[in-house]
Amino acid sequence: GTCHNARLIFFVFLVETGSHHSGWRPLEFKSGGCGAGLVAAGAVRVLYPASRAGERTRVPGSPAPSSLPLHSPGACGTEVDMDPQRSPLLEVKGNIELKRPLIKTPSRLPLSGSRLKRRPDQMEDGLEPEKKRTRGLGATTKITTSHPRVPSLTTVPQTQGQTTAQKVSKKTGPRCSTAIATGLKNQKPVPAVPVQKSGTSGVPPMAGGKKPSKRPAWDLKGQLCDLNAELKRCRERTQTLDQENQQLQDQLRDAQQQVQALGTERRTLEGHLAKVQAQAEQGQQELKNLRACVLELEERLSTQEGLVQELQKKQVELQEERRGLTSQLEEKERRLQTSEAALSSSQVEVASLRQETVAQAALLTEREERLHGLEMERRRLHNQLQELKGNIRVFCRVRPVLPGEPTPPPGLLLFPSGPGGPSDPPTRLSLFRSDERRGTLSGAPAPPTRHDFSFDRVFPPGSGQDEVFEEIAMLVQSALDGYPVCIFAYGQTGSGKTFTMEGGPGGDPQLEGLIPRALRHLFSVAQELSGQGWTYSFVASYVEIYNETVRDLLATGTRKGQGGECEIRRAGPGSEELTVTNARYVPVSCEKEVEALLHLARQNRAVARTAQNERSSRSHSVFQLQISGEHSSRGLQCGAPLSLVDLAGSERLDPGLALGPGERERLRETQAINSSLSTLGLVIMALSNKESHVPYRNSKLTYLLQNSLGGSAKMLMFVNISPLEENVSESLNSLRFASKVNQCVIGTAQANRK
Ligand code: ADP
Ligand code: MG
Repeated sequence: GTCHNARLIFFVFLVETGSHHSGWRPLEFKSGGCGAGLVAAGAVRVLYPASRAGERTRVPGSPAPSSLPLHSPGACGTEVDMDPQRSPLLEVKGNIELKRPLIKTPSRLPLSGSRLKRRPDQMEDGLEPEKKRTRGLGATTKITTSHPRVPSLTTVPQTQGQTTAQKVSKKTGPRCSTAIATGLKNQKPVPAVPVQKSGTSGVPPMAGGKKPSKRPAWDLKGQLCDLNAELKRCRERTQTLDQENQQLQDQLRDAQQQVQALGTERRTLEGHLAKVQAQAEQGQQELKNLRACVLELEERLSTQEGLVQELQKKQVELQEERRGLTSQLEEKERRLQTSEAALSSSQVEVASLRQETVAQAALLTEREERLHGLEMERRRLHNQLQELKGNIRVFCRVRPVLPGEPTPPPGLLLFPSGPGGPSDPPTRLSLFRSDERRGTLSGAPAPPTRHDFSFDRVFPPGSGQDEVFEEIAMLVQSALDGYPVCIFAYGQTGSGKTFTMEGGPGGDPQLEGLIPRALRHLFSVAQELSGQGWTYSFVASYVEIYNETVRDLLATGTRKGQGGECEIRRAGPGSEELTVTNARYVPVSCEKEVEALLHLARQNRAVARTAQNERSSRSHSVFQLQISGEHSSRGLQCGAPLSLVDLAGSERLDPGLALGPGERERLRETQAINSSLSTLGLVIMALSNKESHVPYRNSKLTYLLQNSLGGSAKMLMFVNISPLEENVSESLNSLRFASKVNQCVIGTAQANRK
C-alpha cells in the first residue's frame, strides 16, 4: 500500500552448504561501512532490492519526515547486491553441491505474500538454530532489519535533513552494529527506530546547515510561509513515497514472480531429488545386493580356494603317479621291445617249425600209410602163420591129480620131448593101458599097451593157465583180424574142460580160464589198434545146449534158471549170420562186464543143476563173442565170431550095465551128446575133405557154430585128459577122437600142409 512506513523485509535464505556434516550454514552479512551486507557463506549471496539511497518521497498531505531511516549502501543501510536477471538459486545451484535434501528449505522460503511480511521475531524464530550456532562461532552476524516507522513530522530543511540523515547514518552505524550485536545477544531484534529517534533527537531540525530560528509568535506570515514550505516538502515527500511505494510494489511483484519461479524450480528440483533419491535407494539396494554378491563370491572363492588346494594336492599326487607310471611304461616298453624281438625270432622259429610240421605231417601220413600196409601185411602173415600151424589145431591138456584122488601108477602117461629136446614144448603123449583080458601064454600079465599120440601141443598136468593161453593168444588175435575162431574143450566129465575154459574156483586170477583171458587180450589189442584208426565193438552171448535144446545162460529175472527154449535162426533172410532167439546179446567193453556175465552163467547153471542132476556136464556151453572192427577213414570193416565151447562130457555108458529107469534117461542124454560130438567130428571131416555137404544141421551145436568152422575159420580143440588110471579108457577114446580131428585140415593151410 502506500503507507508511509514501508517496511522492508529481508528474506533470508538458508542454504545447505556442500559439507555433509556442517548442515545449515548461516548467511553472513557483510558489513559495508555502517551497513550490513548479506553474504552467504561460501559463494552465495542472497540479496534483496533496496531502496535507492537517499531517495525521499514526499507524500502529499502528509508531513515530510525530517529524516529517512532507510538504510542505504552509502549510509547506514544494508548492502544489497541485486541482480534481477539472475536467480539466487541459480547461484546456489552453480556453487553449492546439494548433498542434503532441500525438503527442509521450503519452510524457510517465503512462499506466499503473506509470509513475506514476517515479523522480526518470526524471522528470529526461523533463524533460531542458526543463531545458536553462530553464538558459538561469534564471527557471523545475523541481522533482522525493518524499516522504522517514520517519526512524527519535523520541519527540517532539506539540506539539513540530508546532513542529518548523513549524520544519523554515521551515528547509527556503530549503533546499528551494537543493536545487531545486542539483538544477537538478546535474541531479540532491536528496532532501529529508537536509535534513529535518539539520533534525530540529538540533531536539531535544521536545513542547509542553518540554524532554524524560531519565529516569533507574531510572525504569523513567516510561520505561514514555513508551514507552506513544510507542506510543500511534505507533498513532495508524499509524492516521492508514492513513487517509492509503487516501485516497491513492482519489486514485490517481481519478488513474488521470482518466488513462484523458484517454487516451480524447487518442485522440479524436488522431483529431481526424488529421482535422485530413488536412484540412490536403488543404488543402495544394488550396493546391498552387490555386497551380498561379494559375500557370496568371497564364500565361493574360499570354497574354490579349498578346492584349488585339494586339486593341487591331487595334482601333486597325480604327478607322482604319472612319474611312477612313466617309469613303469618305460620298463614295459623295454620289455615289449625285448618281447617283440623274442616274438620276431619266435615267429621265424614258428615259420620254420610250421614247415617242419608240414614235412612231419607228410612224413606221418606216409608212415601211417606204411604202418597200415604193415598192419595189413602182419594180418596176412599172421593168418598165413596160423594156417601153417593148422586151421584145425588140437591141444592136449592133462589135469593134475586132485587131492583125495588115487595116485595113478607111474608111467601111465608119458610126455616124450620133441625133436628139439626137453627145451621144446611137448607135442606128444603116450598112454599105457594094461588089458586084463589079454593074457600071456605063460599066464603072466600082459604088458600094458602103449598108445602114442601127437598133437599140436601137449600140456602136462603142471601147466598153468597162462601157459595155455600163451599158445592161443595168437589165435585170438586172428579173430580181431577178421577170421572166425572156435575153441573147443573136449573130454570126459571131470577132465578139466570147464577149468580150462572158464577157470578155477575162487576167482583166483592165476586160475582164470581162456574166456576171461581171451577177452582181456582182445580188449587190449583193440585199444592198441584204435591208434591206427580201428574201432572195435564186442557183443557177448552165452548159451547151453542140452539134449538138443538151447538155453540162455545170461537170462535174468524170471527167466533165470528156467528159460524158455531158444531157437537158432538166421539173422535175416539170405543172411549168413545166425542168432539165438530169446537169448541176451550183451555188449561188453571191459573185463568186469565179462566177469559179471560168467558169474551169471554159473548161477544159471547152478539153478539148473538142482533141477536136473549134473546137467552141466551133460550139456555144451557155448560162449560167443561177435567182434566188429571198423576203420572209418579207410572205409574198412572186419567182423568175426569168437566161439569158446565147453563141450559135454564125452564119456560113454558102459553097455554091460543093467538099464534102470535113471540109466535109460542117462542113455538118452549120452546118445544125444555122442550124436552131437560125432556130428562135430563129421562136420570137421567134411570140411577137411571139402565135401559139398557139411552136416551142420545134424546137431544144434554144429548148426550154431557153422559160421565159426568153415572157410577161413580157425579151430582149436583142447582135449582134456584125466590122469587117473580108472579114466584110461575114456582118455584113450578122447585121444583117439582128438587125433582124428588133428588129422583134419581146413582152409588154405591144407595145401601148405600137403
Ligand atoms: P569138467 O568140466 O571137464 O567136468 P572140471 O573142469 O570141472 O571138469 O574139473 C574137475 C575138477 O578138476 C575141478 O575141481 C577142477 O578144479 C579140477 N581141475 C581140472 N583141471 C585142473 C588143472 N589143470 N589144475 C588143477 N585143477 C584142475
Ligand atoms: Mg565142466
